[in-house]
Amino acid sequence: MPEELNPFKIAQAQLDEAAELLGLDEATHEILRWPRREFRFTIPVRMDNGKVKIFHGYRVQYNDARGPGKGGLRWHPDETIDTVRALAAWMTWKTAVVDIPLGGSKGGVTCNPEEMSDGEKERLARGWMRQIYFRLGQYKDVPAPDVFTTSQIMSWMLDEYEVLSNDHQPAVITGKPVELGGSLGRSDATARGGMYTVREACKKLGIDPAQAKYAVQGFGNVGSFAATLHKELFGGGKLIAASDVYGGVYNPDGIDPHALAKHVKETGKVPGFPGTEPISNEDLLELDVDILYPAAIENVITEKNADNIKCKILCELANGPTTPAADKILYKKGVHIIPDFLANAGGVTVSYFEQVQGIYQYWWPIEKVHEELDAKMTRAYQAVYDVHKEKNVDMRVAAYLIAVQRVVDAMKLRGWV
Ligand code: GLU
Repeated sequence: MPEELNPFKIAQAQLDEAAELLGLDEATHEILRWPRREFRFTIPVRMDNGKVKIFHGYRVQYNDARGPGKGGLRWHPDETIDTVRALAAWMTWKTAVVDIPLGGSKGGVTCNPEEMSDGEKERLARGWMRQIYFRLGQYKDVPAPDVFTTSQIMSWMLDEYEVLSNDHQPAVITGKPVELGGSLGRSDATARGGMYTVREACKKLGIDPAQAKYAVQGFGNVGSFAATLHKELFGGGKLIAASDVYGGVYNPDGIDPHALAKHVKETGKVPGFPGTEPISNEDLLELDVDILYPAAIENVITEKNADNIKCKILCELANGPTTPAADKILYKKGVHIIPDFLANAGGVTVSYFEQVQGIYQYWWPIEKVHEELDAKMTRAYQAVYDVHKEKNVDMRVAAYLIAVQRVVDAMKLRGWV
């Protein structure tokens, strides 16, 4: 049988395993298997050539028992209702595992932003907001950036929302530029949060991150910060490979992540960085490294390549990079997985700080953002690690057990189940 690669089916299968271990009753399990609400709409956009193009947009509000929906917007050519549903489910578990008072949502547009001008992107961002603004709000559902969406796109959306609602609501969207009420420290928050979990994992496994070899798959919004922060926060470590959609670069003696980030800013892509050899995304994942950071999209580690993965720690900065079949193989091999909705929860955690600051209209210094983020991530990692040990389950199942139980408790208090 071919491996299941539909992200929503995968998200449901992961939940099913946790539901069984938690002994959830049928109704509780069923409500968690589906989004509570989902919206699909078409967005007409006048393109620069004068013609109207119709885009397909989505917002899935998976579960808001613990608080307003929260989650990013992905603009990607492969976006479907099922990718958005899966990402919305994972947001629900993510906000629960780090224990912030929010639910889980996700949105997206099927499009290729690389082929669009700034004007076309602005019209698409405003068009998306016009279709769904009635169901968004700082106490309803709060979008944020994700793959191929930026703080500029958040700014256009904020502006459109405020025009439509005749109101200022700085906490209606996060990942905004600091000038419009964004939080300091939001741009590198996902990677930074991941580093705090890696620091804790290294302590448990007796690895010195300053001596570790590491590779980054997906040198974008999150991966480029992971590459530089690993060195900055641990005072060392050797980046031996990095990649993006165009391909990868490899140097066993080490790559300077800051110089690579500069190269990507100037040329728009990773390949061609001086002093390196080319490497494919597939080969990069199988390199002999201590820590592997997948930071792109789903399903890059499957039953096909799981056996060849050699890292000791797999820090899943992407959402859904490992399939359930690959999970089992990696667990048997003894790879320590820091599961996606824990590893990459730093982004939404600082988004939550941004909301808190927006609602109070009072901004925190960067030191406070880092300190609070560290505390949240460290506590969450420790809780997941403890369940992993106590119940003898892999780290992903442990994270699910904690997150699902928290959502169930909130649903029960509300009288939903
Ligand atoms: N898109 C990010 C994620 O997948 C951040 C979401 C947010 O800040 O709301 O976690």
